[in-house]
Amino acid sequence: TVRTRFAPSPTGFIHLGNIRSALYPWAFARAEKGVFILRIEDTDVERSSQEAVDVILEGMAWLGLTHDEGPFYQMQRMPRYKEVLEQMKAQGLVYPCYMSVAELDALREKQMAAKQKPRYDGTWRPEPGKTLPSVPPGVQPVLRFRNPVGGAVVWEDKVKGRIEISNDELDDLVIARPDGTPTYNFCVVVDDIDMDITHVIRGDDHVNNTPRQINIFRALGKEPPVYAHLPTVLQEVIDPDGTKRVEKMSKRHGAKPVTQYREEGFLADGVVNYLARLGWSHGDDEVFSREQFIEWFNLDHLGKSAAQFDDTKLRWVNAQHIKQTDDAKLVELLRAIRPGVVEGRDAEHLARISALVKDRCETLLVLADWIEKFYHPVTPDPAEVAKHVTDAVRPALGMLAKMLETCEWEKAAISECIKEVLRASGIKMPQLAMPVRVLVMGTSQTPSLDAVLSLCDRQVVLQRLNSAG
Ligand code: GLU
Repeated sequence: TVRTRFAPSPTGFIHLGNIRSALYPWAFARAEKGVFILRIEDTDVERSSQEAVDVILEGMAWLGLTHDEGPFYQMQRMPRYKEVLEQMKAQGLVYPCYMSVAELDALREKQMAAKQKPRYDGTWRPEPGKTLPSVPPGVQPVLRFRNPVGGAVVWEDKVKGRIEISNDELDDLVIARPDGTPTYNFCVVVDDIDMDITHVIRGDDHVNNTPRQINIFRALGKEPPVYAHLPTVLQEVIDPDGTKRVEKMSKRHGAKPVTQYREEGFLADGVVNYLARLGWSHGDDEVFSREQFIEWFNLDHLGKSAAQFDDTKLRWVNAQHIKQTDDAKLVELLRAIRPGVVEGRDAEHLARISALVKDRCETLLVLADWIEKFYHPVTPDPAEVAKHVTDAVRPALGMLAKMLETCEWEKAAISECIKEVLRASGIKMPQLAMPVRVLVMGTSQTPSLDAVLSLCDRQVVLQRLNSAG
């Protein structure tokens, strides 16, 4: 079975660019009826935080990217890494290196001066017939991995195609620090082995780690998984002086934590749909459900070039999902982010308002604002009122208010009243409808007037119409 994982480092609030690296392995596991694993890479203790872990867990739960195993925490797996280190020591796969930081710096400078790529020179690497320097007293060594000499590491990347890295470019990686703690690349390999990962789908900022990780896999007698390295997500950044740049998406440049999108009224399905398309395609399909996405997903249609985050497109996709969502469900979703809009109000009435206005809503917050207008008299912009409520229409407005006082309060009856006023006053529909819209809803852009009025409170409507004098 296919086994994939998402392995975030909780060192900042996970944003949409990061979550896309969870979406694809999740979708692939679902498409292949496999297993999706969540692993929290929290070994950078200084920079990791529980709050960041919470954003990961909440964000993924919100988006429905549920894991089948985990979350595993690397900090809790320390004994296991140490066990593997011992085993590697016993097999001669690693060796202690006593080179001091000063010596390493000097080596690096020498190499740079000679225009060489800085790399560890193997001073402490034991070889048959080689005499090692004498161990300096009181120095705790690092452990280095004996990288193979000669040959190359080759893999068929599912996104980038064939990649070949000569072993001469890879030096002997430090896999344990002087205090014995294992380093990043080593932990990843031990985890990917123990968790039986078949496909590693991750950001291409890790592509340089891959040949090193593959060598460690093989040293441990395992075949590496399939790799798919996803191109970066870019974002437009506007400098204080107004210059626009395109950069890798990062929190530093205003990328928002994923959970904030829920607060801002995005639907999980809308965000999943948008992110799915940001680096993957299924023909020309732009709007699709989570089920369709899973059905269609495969690694062959992952994009090869960096995709740019586009807020306008995200909003458009979200609007399409709002349109397609059941009204009672939308009202329930609103309860979570704007409880005041829902509490104490009739759920069915709220759903009818939703049905009327939801095709004008990019987010649930816009829907919430619309709903409020149906319950509370708005204060229209005086300029708009002056523009639409002219002396010519004032008598008609008065007549309409009079009729609406006693008519049956439902759409057809209200529609009859409007027609009657038009007949009697001789004015045209827009001349009457515009001022009524502005007075009652605060805007001239609303769904059909009879429907809007029928869902408002009668007293509120009368009060607003009469305020026109
Ligand atoms: N923890 C790494 C990151 O957050 C991901 C490592 C991996 O996927 O192998 O960038």
